[in-house]
Amino acid sequence: MSRRVLIVEDNDQNLYLVTFLLERHGFDIVAARAGEEALQWAARERFAVIILDIQLPDLDGHTVAARLRAMPGLTGVPIVAVTSYAMPGDRERALAAGCTGYIEKPINPTAFAAQIQDYITLSASGGGMR
Ligand code: MN
Repeated sequence: MSRRVLIVEDNDQNLYLVTFLLERHGFDIVAARAGEEALQWAARERFAVIILDIQLPDLDGHTVAARLRAMPGLTGVPIVAVTSYAMPGDRERALAAGCTGYIEKPINPTAFAAQIQDYITLSASGGGMR
């Protein structure tokens, strides 16, 4: 199974933290700092999971999620939104846009890699978390 992860995140600190936590667990990271860049990566490479910040400089994360979901090769790839606790409506919109689930910011550093692994495992077994 691929350990390649696409992280879509425009905030340097968040990107650094998520990259650090996942690399430590053996994941191979590709970072996109905007929505269009993420769509380009997803069109040319296969990822085990896509981690998607909802607030991005160009497209909003919901639009990115919907466009990712519309790509034929991405049907079985989990998309995990990273949403702000202060924006509860984001979560419902993320699921409606095609995200498999969401993780609230601030992320929990001790649990994050395991949470991501759970999404990969669930999608590989054909399950969902919606
Ligand atoms: Mn952001």
